[in-house]
Formats: sequence, structure tokens, C-alpha cells
Amino acid sequence: MNTQVEATVTPDDPLQMDAMVDTLIDDVGTDVPPVIETQNLTKVYTMGDTEIHALRGVSVTIQSGEMVALVGPSGSGKSTLMAILGALDKPTSGSYKLDGVEIGRMSQDRLSDIRNYRIGFVFQKFNLLARTDAQTNVALPLVYAGVAARERAARARQALEVVSLGDRLHHHPNELSGGQQQRVAIARALINNPSIILADEPTGNLDSKTGEEIMRLFKQLHEDQGITLIIVTHSPEVAQQAKRVITMRDGEVVDEYINP
Ligand code: ADP
Ligand code: MG
Repeated sequence: MNTQVEATVTPDDPLQMDAMVDTLIDDVGTDVPPVIETQNLTKVYTMGDTEIHALRGVSVTIQSGEMVALVGPSGSGKSTLMAILGALDKPTSGSYKLDGVEIGRMSQDRLSDIRNYRIGFVFQKFNLLARTDAQTNVALPLVYAGVAARERAARARQALEVVSLGDRLHHHPNELSGGQQQRVAIARALINNPSIILADEPTGNLDSKTGEEIMRLFKQLHEDQGITLIIVTHSPEVAQQAKRVITMRDGEVVDEYINP
């Protein structure tokens, strides 16, 4: 907070008091921490005698409502970073603050709440359960959240409608196209109304036309619901649609630019 508000001053003039309250409110408004802020994250995987330095000091800041593309060659550490941002994995060292709160200091319960409610994940390999239909796949996170069966079904149907699959509720993954399967996965990621979506090469297994459809859907979610979106991609077309592009190489951020 830059402006010091002196709590000891209590003006008699109501107008002056109003002005003071406004200043306070303004301060609160400008003092919102970045949704994601990492400093010097490292990740070392130990395999037998060898150490793999997957992240070598990554510092990124992402504001609420941003759409960011994360690009870079295979093996550069993108998925490792995403797993840490999603609280699925822990860094070896460094700081990661989510909404200004250090993740490393959070309890297990708080972390699982974050994974369940705050962040939605979408992966390249849709990760759907093969033996259950679209609606049941989408409802799965609600089972962990303890939501009753009837409400689960209703909310899953709604989420599938958002991704234009209201007519495919009872199809199994193998009865759906790749693009449809990814849309089911997106509906599942959305089911608890997360404010952040982390998508790791979500169009990587799709043909370019279907990939474009999925990107349109992501953009729509980002624009309509103000969801903060981080997308890992190899596709320049996909990266171009993000406001900001972060490039990684060998475990480091080597470039960062804003799309025109
Ligand atoms: P990207 O997603 O950019 O392709 P990754 O984050 O998956 O890169 O991998 C970064 C580096 O870490 C690679 O060298 C990879 O082989 C290694 N790596 C990733 N996950 C593991 C793991 N679980 N155990 C050991 N090494 C890993
Ligand atoms: Mg990867």
C-alpha cells in the first residue's frame, strides 16, 4: 500500500470523512495482489545418481483475469511449472504466492480446496474415465466435494451445455470425437466455478480446426467469466490469441511479450 492512511485522524467535517473513506476504498482496490506470483522457483528431479533441473529460477507474475500463453520447446519445464502453479506439485525452492498467500505455508486442507474449487485443469490427454458417460465424468469433482447426486447431475448437465454438449450427456468418451472429449474435460474443469484455468497443451491432440474451436471456447470463458487462463501450447496461432506470451527454455523464462 503506497498511501498511508492515518487512522488517528477523525475529521468532524462529514465531507472530509467521506473523502477519507474513498481513499481507503481506493487503497483496497489497488492493493489486490497478483493472482499468481512466483519468485525463483526451482525444481530438481532426482533419478538415481542424476539430477534433472527442470526449473532453474522461474519468476512470473499473473494478474487476475489475464490470458497468458506459455511456450517453449519440449522439456523446457512448462508442465513442471503448471503442476506447481496448480498446487499439484511442490517446488524444490523458491516462492509461490497465490492471491498473495505463500502456498508452502498452506495446510493440506487448504491446498485441496484450492485444487478443487479455485483452479480447473485441462490436459492434452483429456484424462476422462473411459467407462462412464460425459455427465458422470463432468460431475466427478462434485463427488469429492460431497454434493448430492441430484445436484451433481443437474450441474454437470449445465456445464455440458456451456460447452455445447447438452445433447451428449450419456455418450462415453470413445463415442465422442477428440474435440468433444476435450470439451467434456473443460466442462469438468469448470464444474466448481474456478477462477483460474490451467490448460497444458489442450489442443495438442486435436486437428487444427478442432483446436480452433476449443480456443474459441477458452476465449469465451475468459471474456464472459473473467477466468484467468494459462495455456501451454506449441502452436503460434494459439499463442497469438493470448494477451501475453511467456517463453521458457531449459527451465528458465527467456522471453516475455505482449501481443499487439
Ligand atoms: P515440458 O512440459 O516443457 O515439455 P516438462 O516440465 O515436462 O517439460 O519437463 C522438464 C524436464 O524435467 C524434462 O527434462 C523432463 O524430462 C524432466 N521431468 C519432468 N517430469 C519429471 C519426473 N517426474 N521425473 C523426472 N524428470 C522429470
Ligand atoms: Mg509438457
